[in-house]
Amino acid sequence: MSEMTDFNGISSEWNPDWFLTDEQKDLRERLIELCHTTLHPNAIEFDQTYEYPRRNMEALASMGLLALHVPKKYGGLGQNHVCVAMVLETIGRYGCPSTALVYTMHLLSVSALLFRAEGNPEIEAVLRRLNDDVFIGTASYSDPETGSHFWYPMASKAEKTDDGWRVHKKSSWTTSGGYADFYVAQTSSPDFDGDFANLSVFLVMKDEIVSHESTWSAMGMRGNQSGPIEINGVDVNKDRMVGFPGDGATSNDEALDPIGLTMFAASYNGIALAAMDIAKGQTTRKVHKDVGMRVADYPTIQDYVGECLMDTEASRLYTFGVAQALDMNTDNCDWTRHGREPDWTPRTELLHWTWMSKFISCKNVYNVLDKMLQACGGSGYKTSLGLERLLRDGKAGWVMGPTNEVLRQFVGKAALLGMESLDYWNQVPNESVLQNEVKKLDDDAKQKLIDQLQASMKKQAVE
Ligand SMILES: Cc1cc2nc3c(=O)[nH]c(=O)nc-3n(C[C@H](O)[C@H](O)[C@H](O)COP(=O)(O)OP(=O)(O)OC[C@H]3O[C@@H](n4cnc5c(N)ncnc54)[C@H](O)[C@@H]3O)c2cc1C
Repeated sequence: MSEMTDFNGISSEWNPDWFLTDEQKDLRERLIELCHTTLHPNAIEFDQTYEYPRRNMEALASMGLLALHVPKKYGGLGQNHVCVAMVLETIGRYGCPSTALVYTMHLLSVSALLFRAEGNPEIEAVLRRLNDDVFIGTASYSDPETGSHFWYPMASKAEKTDDGWRVHKKSSWTTSGGYADFYVAQTSSPDFDGDFANLSVFLVMKDEIVSHESTWSAMGMRGNQSGPIEINGVDVNKDRMVGFPGDGATSNDEALDPIGLTMFAASYNGIALAAMDIAKGQTTRKVHKDVGMRVADYPTIQDYVGECLMDTEASRLYTFGVAQALDMNTDNCDWTRHGREPDWTPRTELLHWTWMSKFISCKNVYNVLDKMLQACGGSGYKTSLGLERLLRDGKAGWVMGPTNEVLRQFVGKAALLGMESLDYWNQVPNESVLQNEVKKLDDDAKQKLIDQLQASMKKQAVE
């Protein structure tokens, strides 16, 4: 048993270590040490001061982690999806949830770049700077017009110029907004004709965006500094389009969502474990002298921990299992093959498994936090124990896009009616609802509808 991984919390025999290689276990040991000395003490401070966790990102860069899954040919560690999940779980558990979120959005932007890196000098230059320059990226997708439907960027457009593209975007939320060095942003495509499935992806730099940093004020995740940003008609050269015009939807399904959802799941599993670590410390320390028992000796408290640990282990096994499937499908996370085979989309077929991963983890974490707070009594309610900070941070998982409401509906609808029923871009009319509503109209109302439709068709023909 490892002393480093224990830290008086739930002991390491409860870790599903059969997913990890020896090299990955060694990386985890070193990362836990870094969390202990640096990330965790900073987490408490950042929660109080709203400081952006750049110092923690510098610490991660010192271990090469800003290029964790970047191929070795670009100077990265060349690690796989399982390792990405392990690193996020470890930062969530022993380090700092805000840093886990900032780091997730960083690796997410790097994933979008890796998908189309081959032969693109702008992207390759960014990839080589990640650790040496602590070059932090983020993904700017959520749109003020469409809320958590981040794949639907209405307040955006792109135009073709003589030597590249002009990018316009309004984004309602961007973790690291104004603090990150580069931004991967999605807009409708330069040849947009009303079809919002026609999306393109751009690489934009810090000095090209308008941001409102330090305005973030929220329940938790206080270091993540998520804020609105604008890209106001910025001219970029042709290589700053990531992929090709119209590549955005494929990029979402292949590069962003499967890895992003896996990272969210792993981080929130880490936060659930952190809550149980704290509860173990508190309930084994606290003695009720009248009955001569520690709080941990009460069967009620054991039941809380037993059930929460089983639920969390199910979520961890699920997350690591899906990460392993992603590795199996991608030649162990070989991004370079996308350059040789641009149509190769091995993660996409596992996308629905990653939806479930995020849903399960973000549902579980809140239950665990609630129960651990109860197990710790009034002491749990106090800031000093650290549980209330985790509870505030942990709630972010459920509301982050795709939100758990949306994921639950995706899964139920797709399971019942097929994947094609999802209609992300609201393009397919629901014929049965339409017919049913028309059935309710009398003749006058039907005629009014016919007139309205004809007027609308005439207007469209003129336009
Ligand atoms: C801490 C934090 C950091 C973030 N960082 C980023 C970032 O870096 N980049 C980025 O692009 N975005 C980011 N986001 C935005 C996030 O991904 C969501 O877009 C955002 O939380 C949605 O908020 P909203 O108020 O627009 O919700 P709304 O979309 O208005 O949702 C309100 C409610 O409606 C529900 N709802 C929405 N659609 C449906 C539906 N079809 N069926 C049923 N219910 C539905 C939602 O689940 C929710 O309960 C961040 C959010 C947070 C909280």
